[in-house]
Amino acid sequence: MEAKIIDGKAMAAGIRQELKVRLEKLKDEMGITPGLAVILVGDDPASQTYVNNKEKACNEVGIDSYIYRLPVDTSEEEVLGLIAKLNADSQIDGILVQLPLPKHLDEHTVLGAVDARKDVDGTHIVTAGKLLAGEKGFKPCTPKGIIRMIKSTGLEIQGKHAVVVGRSNIVGKPVALLLLNENATVTMCHSKTEDLQSVCAGADILVAAIGKPGFITGDYIKERAVVIDVGTTKVDGVFKGDVVFEEASKKAAFISPVPGGVGPMTIAMLMENTVEAGETYA
Ligand code: NAP
Repeated sequence: MEAKIIDGKAMAAGIRQELKVRLEKLKDEMGITPGLAVILVGDDPASQTYVNNKEKACNEVGIDSYIYRLPVDTSEEEVLGLIAKLNADSQIDGILVQLPLPKHLDEHTVLGAVDARKDVDGTHIVTAGKLLAGEKGFKPCTPKGIIRMIKSTGLEIQGKHAVVVGRSNIVGKPVALLLLNENATVTMCHSKTEDLQSVCAGADILVAAIGKPGFITGDYIKERAVVIDVGTTKVDGVFKGDVVFEEASKKAAFISPVPGGVGPMTIAMLMENTVEAGETYA
């Protein structure tokens, strides 16, 4: 039987509709329209596309967007100066620094300069610490979207074996923590994992966040598994996932496509976090 598609695009559209209603209420009752500042340093084409998509989503739901497109040679001092200004600006509820940064800018210093109360992207060390400790705080957007997608299948996460391939700070580690918070039994895999295929083949929930197109073939998939493909790599102008969709969908019960899966959900979660920030600090 063919797997059911976890349609991230449709889910994200539904979330944006719900957010529009929340935003209208916030405006009517409190006179507040949340503001999201996005800082893009340099002219990386993929980053430009991601920033444009964020701006478009803000316009659609009714969040004020402030996009700062800075030249590639902008100094760290200038970036930190801008962040300090945005931290102090009451019109700005969320600040996102688009990654990757040019090499001369220290990622930890720049991300760490953002006021954690405005860290709607969930990349600040304080936000990461709260997630680790199970405290209330912003959830990083891609992992938060992934959990929503898994839940949308109706599968109870508790007690299931979840395997996460990839251990980055923005996807692999936080998604593993969120799955653990949902009482899954979590295995984290990476480039040094031995016999990755058999580990993955034991997964009720498989999250692939590697960045190697077509790496996860049908042999890696357990019958009736839920498969979330985070990988987004441009090949000949087309975005490709980490999972060989045609093979995996013959075994899995549910699978997310690329494009149209995790990507749109990530942006929807950014919008949701920004609305939450606006509501919290109203
Ligand atoms: P990353 O920082 O490059 O991390 C990749 C991870 O994959 C690393 O932990 C690495 O292991 C692991 N890996 C590499 N080769 C492997 C192998 N042969 N076997 C097992 N593990 C292997 O990437 P990322 O930022 O997490 O992103 C991963 C993918 O998700 C990329 O394609 C990215 O574009 C995509 N992404 C999509 C969204 C979205 O919104 N759709 C958001 C974020 C990321 P080591 O740690 O051992 O090196």
